[in-house]
Amino acid sequence: VLATGARERPRSARLVPGTRPAGVLTTGQLQQAVHLHRQNVGRRAVIVGAERVSYSAVDTLRRAGAEVAAMVTDQPRHQTHPARHLGTRLRYGFPLVTDATVAELTGRGRLESVRLRHRDGRTAAVACDTVVFTGDWIPDHELARSAGIALDPGTRGPAADAEFRTGEPGVFAVGNLLHPVETADIAALDGRLAAGPVLRHLAGRPWTPGALPVRVEAPLLWVSPNRIAPDGPRPPRGRFTLRTTRFLTRPVLTVGQDGRTLHRGRLPRTVAPGRPFHLPADWIAGADAHGGPVRITVD
Ligand SMILES: Cc1cc2nc3c(=O)[nH]c(=O)nc-3n(C[C@H](O)[C@H](O)[C@H](O)COP(=O)(O)OP(=O)(O)OC[C@H]3O[C@@H](n4cnc5c(N)ncnc54)[C@H](O)[C@@H]3O)c2cc1C
Repeated sequence: VLATGARERPRSARLVPGTRPAGVLTTGQLQQAVHLHRQNVGRRAVIVGAERVSYSAVDTLRRAGAEVAAMVTDQPRHQTHPARHLGTRLRYGFPLVTDATVAELTGRGRLESVRLRHRDGRTAAVACDTVVFTGDWIPDHELARSAGIALDPGTRGPAADAEFRTGEPGVFAVGNLLHPVETADIAALDGRLAAGPVLRHLAGRPWTPGALPVRVEAPLLWVSPNRIAPDGPRPPRGRFTLRTTRFLTRPVLTVGQDGRTLHRGRLPRTVAPGRPFHLPADWIAGADAHGGPVRITVD
């Protein structure tokens, strides 16, 4: 069973221009430095990202005695629970800069400032000695790739069916390797749900995983599970989990295959990047096992 998890894309993978000073971290690196190695992480930090893990980065920085100069997101608003956002802002009082990206890092030796570029073209430099790149997840798929296991183009983790079976006989995958990322309880629950299929495999059940791909189109980012068998079991809890790259207000989702609509329905709420939303799985019996990929689109 592959359970190698996911990590945040570091600065290098985000192609952020500028010098290469010290003080540039992901949340994972920050938490290791503070909690594991008790290292000094600087005095004034900019946090890039405004999702759940970004607020964990705030807590870790404050615990290490650093001030938060600003939190910056390319989205029009934060992507965590409103109470979490409000509580953190009231407690620490830093600005949230929306619709902006990091244009450049400057500093020799140690980071000196981060230049932000707003969507309208304006730029501003924020003095800081630390920047934490949060979110923007990539599965730790190196082990799966080196074994030649087919990856899903959306999650970038192994393509897997409702019973956690990959395309490689005898290899299951669970956790945030499959859905980058969900909270720890969801990742742990995968392990429990995979136990039955693993035991059945060990008892000699033939290896016939769902082979029909389920794909998403932009602005959707990924769907999990992303392989189905129309006559096979539904995904855990009878639903698919999805992610979007931008806020969608009560979107209408259409599931189609070869020009045929299998399901169409409006979600009852706004969905946010970095947070899960779900699609009922009761349409899968209507898909054609021998047809083209099933596609999930937004009107
Ligand atoms: C920085 C960070 C903070 C997070 N904070 C929270 C939080 O506050 N609350 C929450 O609910 N969730 C949080 N998450 C998300 C999620 O809960 C965790 O990622 C969770 O641990 C995922 O469990 P997992 O079993 O999928 O993977 P992990 O717990 O990450 O386990 C993966 C294991 O695989 C190992 N591994 C990876 N690649 C290889 C390889 N090639 N060969 C051998 N071993 C390998 C790793 O070393 C690791 O031990 C956070 C995630 C990160 C990265």
